[in-house]
Amino acid sequence: MQSPTVLINGAGIAGPALAFWLSRKGYRVIVCEIAPGIRPGGQTVDLRGSGSDVVERMGLLDQMKARALEQNGAAWVRSDGSRRAEMPVTAFGGNGLVSKLEILRGDLAAVLYDATRRDVDYRFGSTVTALDQSEESVTVTLGDGDRLPVDLVVGADGPHSAVRRIAFGPEERFVRPIGGYNAWFSAPDTAGLDGWFLLYQAPGGLNASMRPSHDPSIAKAGLAFQSEPLTYDRHDPDAQRQILVERFAGAGWHCDALLAAAAEADDFYFDAFAQVHMPTWASGRVALVGDAGYCASPLSGMGTSLALVGAYVLAGELGPADPLSSDRLAAALARYDEVMRPFVDRCQDLPSGIDRYAPMRESDIAITAAVMKWMQRWPFRPIAEKAWFQNSGSMALPDYR
Ligand SMILES: Cc1cc2nc3c(=O)[nH]c(=O)nc-3n(C[C@H](O)[C@H](O)[C@H](O)COP(=O)(O)OP(=O)(O)OC[C@H]3O[C@@H](n4cnc5c(N)ncnc54)[C@H](O)[C@@H]3O)c2cc1C
Repeated sequence: MQSPTVLINGAGIAGPALAFWLSRKGYRVIVCEIAPGIRPGGQTVDLRGSGSDVVERMGLLDQMKARALEQNGAAWVRSDGSRRAEMPVTAFGGNGLVSKLEILRGDLAAVLYDATRRDVDYRFGSTVTALDQSEESVTVTLGDGDRLPVDLVVGADGPHSAVRRIAFGPEERFVRPIGGYNAWFSAPDTAGLDGWFLLYQAPGGLNASMRPSHDPSIAKAGLAFQSEPLTYDRHDPDAQRQILVERFAGAGWHCDALLAAAAEADDFYFDAFAQVHMPTWASGRVALVGDAGYCASPLSGMGTSLALVGAYVLAGELGPADPLSSDRLAAALARYDEVMRPFVDRCQDLPSGIDRYAPMRESDIAITAAVMKWMQRWPFRPIAEKAWFQNSGSMALPDYR
C-alpha cells in the first residue's frame, strides 16, 4: 500500500521541521517554497526550552552548536554609544535576553534543509494557488498549473500564509497588528559590536539594534518603530525603506548609517509586528503550522520554538504512515490543537506589547534600562528569573517514539 502524501507549503523553519519528522515516519513529503531556494536571512534565534529539546530529539543539536554564535550579551546604549545597562550572556544562568545557545535563523534553516533534502521532494519557486477537497483527498493546484492529489496539505508559509487564505479566509480575519513595524537587514558593523547585541531606543517609539554575525565586519541590524497601521505595498521594498527614512533620519546613534545600509541590503525584510489568532488550525485535509497558524510576533522571541514544537507535535499526532482516513486525520488534528493551544496562548501573551521594546518617552527609555539593570541584582533577580527567564519557553513535550 502506498504511503500517504503530505504537501507542505513553505520551507522556512516549520516546513522543513515537519518534513523531517514525516519523512522519517515513511510519509511521502513534497515541500513547495515560493523563493528560489532556502531563504538565508534573519537574525539570531535562541534555542532554549522546548525548541532546543525538539532539535535534540532530531539529533541535530551538535550541528546547531557547531554553528552557534559567540556572544557577550545585550546592552542598552545612548545616542553617543555609552551604555545605560548591560545584560551579559551569563545572566540568569545563560537564559537571559541573549542566551548561551543562539544561532542565525538562516543557519537553522540550512541545517533543517540539509537533514531533509535527500528524503523530501523540495520544489523551489513554487506555491499553492488552489485547493479542492473531497472526503478522501485534496487536489492541490500549483503556480505552474500542475495539479497533485495528496492526503494532507500543511500551510507552513508564514504570517501571510497563502494556504490559510485559501482554506480559512482572508488575512484580516486572523492577523492582529500589535502597534508597530520592524525591518531586518545586514549592515557594516559601524558600532564595533565585539560580540554585543546593542539596542538604542529613542523617543517617539524608535528602536535601532545591531547584533553580531559570523563575519565580524557585518552586523545583523534591526529598525523597529511604534505606529498605527500604515498603508504600503508589501512587495515594494523601496517604499518600505522610505518609511524607515521618515522615522529614523537624524534619530542619533548609528541610525543614519543603518538607513544607508538598508538602502543597499539584499536581505532587507520589512513587516508589521503582528500575531495570528485562529479558533482552529485545521479545515478538513488542510492544517497550519508555525507562523501561518499562530505567529506570536518577533517581540515574543518564541517564533522559532513554536515552529519547531508545532512541527514535532503535528507529526507525532499524525503517527505512522498508515492510510489517512478522514476520521483518523480529524482526530489527529484535534489532538494537535489540544496539545499546542496552551503553549501558543502562553507565547502570545505579551502584556507590555511593543511599549518596552520601543518606548515613546525618554523617561520610559530610562526606566526600561534601569529595569534591565536591576532585575539582575538582589532582591529582584529571583523574581525576574521566575517571571521571564525560567521555563517561559517550555512545555512538556509528548513522547511519540
Ligand atoms: C527571511 C526571514 C527572516 C526572518 N528573520 C527573523 C528574525 O531575525 N527574528 C525573528 O524573530 N524572526 C524572523 N523571521 C520569522 C521566523 O523565521 C518565524 O517567526 C519562525 O521561525 C516561524 O517559522 P515559520 O517556518 O512558521 O515561518 P517563516 O520562517 O516565515 O517561513 C515561511 C516560509 O514560507 C515561504 N512562503 C511564504 N509565502 C509562500 C507561498 N505563498 N508559497 C510558498 N512558500 C511561501 C517563505 O518564503 C518562507 O520561506 C524571519 C523569517 C524570514 C522568512
